[in-house]
Amino acid sequence: MTPVEGGALALLEGTLSGAGFSVHRVRFSEPGAQDVENLYARIGTARPHLMFAGHTDVVPPGDESRWRHPPFAGEIADGVLFGRGAVDMKGAIACELAAALDYIAANGGTLNGSVSFLITGDEEGVAVNGTVKLLRWAAARGEKFDRCILGEPTNPKQLGDMIKIGRRGSLSGTLIVSGMEGHVAYPALADNPVRRIVAIMAAVMAEPLDAGSAHFDPSNLEFTSVDVGNKTANVIPAEARARFNIRFNDRHTQASLKTLIEARARAQGGNFRIEWEPSNADAFLTKPGPFADMVSGAIAEVTGRQPELSTSGGTSDARFIKDYCPVVEFGLVNATMHKIDECVTTADLVRLTAVYRRILDRYFNNPP
Ligand SMILES: [Zn+2]
Repeated sequence: MTPVEGGALALLEGTLSGAGFSVHRVRFSEPGAQDVENLYARIGTARPHLMFAGHTDVVPPGDESRWRHPPFAGEIADGVLFGRGAVDMKGAIACELAAALDYIAANGGTLNGSVSFLITGDEEGVAVNGTVKLLRWAAARGEKFDRCILGEPTNPKQLGDMIKIGRRGSLSGTLIVSGMEGHVAYPALADNPVRRIVAIMAAVMAEPLDAGSAHFDPSNLEFTSVDVGNKTANVIPAEARARFNIRFNDRHTQASLKTLIEARARAQGGNFRIEWEPSNADAFLTKPGPFADMVSGAIAEVTGRQPELSTSGGTSDARFIKDYCPVVEFGLVNATMHKIDECVTTADLVRLTAVYRRILDRYFNNPP
């Protein structure tokens, strides 16, 4: 479970070094967070340089007794592999690995460029000692990346449904409205912050944050909690709070959202403040073009399906990778991720390996 290595990186290290990769196990620390182990491996020294990225950490299994097969046994029943991480995303890392080893063997151990694996153990957790630092570490060593495939589970129903070419950003905050406490029977002697927080919330939610963009849905704000914490029926409270989260597209930055939300709140008047939580999740887009076409083509060849180019869903480590090279995400079917009985068909593992294998062929024959 995140961020414990659990033998996954050791297995990758052994397999990759055996195939001629130079492998680095890199450990990062941060005050207030657990140390995290990561792995970076590269074969070849030339460009172009294709990176496979992923995470070996997984979310907790929940109530293990509810699993049909133990969550950490990797049992296969009727062609279905069960286990935490089967789709998110140890399964896809296994496919990336199998494809790379097959490609290297088919080319006599030499490449027209470089292939690397950038694998973290800190994606499902706070994500401070993972990809963000591993990329910085690699860049400091002089590593330059040309394209990245991130193997997050992107398909809603069937392999070949969807590639992610971007992700929305995420920003959270707490709206705090101060008033004056007092007796409910004497409201003139008090200033009820509940009245005003309701008005401010309504104003903040009244209009869409934008109309969406070419590849994104409109940005959206949801209040997730409204808190007064008042246990007394006859006291007007002194303060009210409301937490919210915004998922935003490429029409917005964190700064533009703060300006917009604060302006809408200020228009209601009165004493309020917004505490914004730090966020490292900005929106990004890898514009459709030769790279996404190449990946789509490989998927269509294997699955017979033309994937949708999507920017839906939560954030991923692609938000860090995009600062180093264009990145697209394609992996397994995500229907069971983070659930009891997370599972993948072995047929999908075979087909995803074939997709990655074709991407390697296409990429090194004709780099986009
Ligand atoms: Zn994941």
